Amino acid sequence: MSALATNLEKLDGYLARFRETGIKHRIGGKDCDGSAGTFQSTSPVNKTVICDVARGDASDIDAAARAAKDAFPAWRDMPALERKKILIRIAEGIEARAEEIALCECWDTGQALRFMSKAAIRGAENFRYFADQVTSARDGKQLQSPTLMNVTTRVPIGPVGVITPWNTPFMLSTWKIAPALAAGCTVVHKPAELSPLSARILVEIAEEAGLPPGVWNMVNGFGEDAGKALCEHRAIKAIAFVGESSTGSLIQKQGADTLKRCHLELGGKNPVIVFDDADLDRALDAVIFMIYSINGERCTSSSRLLVQDSIREEFEARLIARVNNIKVGNPLDPETVIGPLVGEEHFNKVTSYFDIAKEGGATIAAGGVTVGDEGYFVRPTLFTGANNQMRIAQEEIFGPVLTSIPFSTEEEALEIANDTDYGLTGYLWTNDLQRSLRFTEKLEAGMIWVNSENVRHLPTPFGGVKASGIGRDGGDWSFEFYMEQKHIGFATGEHRIPRLGA
Ligand code: NAD
Repeated sequence: MSALATNLEKLDGYLARFRETGIKHRIGGKDCDGSAGTFQSTSPVNKTVICDVARGDASDIDAAARAAKDAFPAWRDMPALERKKILIRIAEGIEARAEEIALCECWDTGQALRFMSKAAIRGAENFRYFADQVTSARDGKQLQSPTLMNVTTRVPIGPVGVITPWNTPFMLSTWKIAPALAAGCTVVHKPAELSPLSARILVEIAEEAGLPPGVWNMVNGFGEDAGKALCEHRAIKAIAFVGESSTGSLIQKQGADTLKRCHLELGGKNPVIVFDDADLDRALDAVIFMIYSINGERCTSSSRLLVQDSIREEFEARLIARVNNIKVGNPLDPETVIGPLVGEEHFNKVTSYFDIAKEGGATIAAGGVTVGDEGYFVRPTLFTGANNQMRIAQEEIFGPVLTSIPFSTEEEALEIANDTDYGLTGYLWTNDLQRSLRFTEKLEAGMIWVNSENVRHLPTPFGGVKASGIGRDGGDWSFEFYMEQKHIGFATGEHRIPRLGA
């Protein structure tokens, strides 16, 4: 049997339970139906229905927020070492179900198995990393003054809402929820409506690991009703959001009446800048990897290639040959690099840029076509002859689509790189050390890699500037979001207190 056939058979086994019972909310440790009925989850691979999913509304969010509020004091006060043990057991539970998570994620989102097989492992790493921080999360400083011993401490902010998108949903959910739990917060998770499967598996793993009921609640549904209600709920103290920039702006508006703290991880139109003095073989590998892996449906993808005109022709020729060689196919086939785009609406959006490119005066040098009509497949695409004013250079396409733009000088490269609403990542390829120091200083991005693709290191800050977001994740930055600083001053003697009215 081929590897694809084996994986399809295993997937069928994993999906049987979802077909039978659908996906319910998980509130206070119990399965709950959706107050607004159900919606269907379909696979982008062949457009078939996977299962029914509970559709949440404001009343379901209210029930989940109350459960999170009730569970908060006991979770906050549980000894750190006990909380740590539970988080480690969650990591172990993820590892034990890694195959199920990967296969379900591929079928639900269209992401290729070669990338998703690592998603569960990375999710487990997130839990292990933040488990290690639990015991020090509340530590503070001692700041002596003449009359007081001042100490600072951190306390968890309370129940929080976590709203996640459909691209790599499992990894992103763990990335947000692990530090929230480590900080001592309780959680209401609203996963993306397009990818509900792995979020359900994750909450099950957490409960099996011993997480008390109500500490982690999961409500499925659409952004405009369940998501909005979560942002507006009074018991929810903060919203950790990952998604589009326009939705991020809505999150802040919806949270304004309850003065919600918001952490926004949003879109990108990230440049990769290749100078003629770079190691061009490695640069080529990285350029290809950072736009054509994970279907290009990743916020950190380098979707604008800025290539120095002295090497442009040869670099683009090599790029075209490689892009045309990339395998598109069933995401459960281990050989597949690009699976189908997540759904019809997104497929229509991505493919609309084929005409937008031509109308704008660019050339489709590779791809620019769909593949079959069974699912939402497109060929990896390269636009050349573009300039930075074109829509294909300014708008986040969020697919396996790269726009190549030439430049001649360092100054021009920097101007083009920064001429965007976004500022998530930047990738610089040069062997000139001083240039890399100058360039990274002026490049408007939250994260920059020099002579490297995006390699995530959990203690480093993750986040964007401009329309790419507000706030940082990673290391202690995650705790800064999920916790409140508290200052306590202890008088060291009997200093003079003003005696008004004495
Ligand atoms: P989206 O903004 O459409 O949806 C994200 C989530 O928000 C979903 O769960 C959705 O139901 C919910 N939502 C929608 N409207 C809402 C509302 N009014 N109130 C509350 N919740 C609402 O994004 P998407 O299409 O699912 O994901 C793709 C986007 O995510 C891209 O723009 C990508 O760049 C971005 N992203 C950013 C990062 C990052 O770290 N910066 C990481 C991954 C994805």
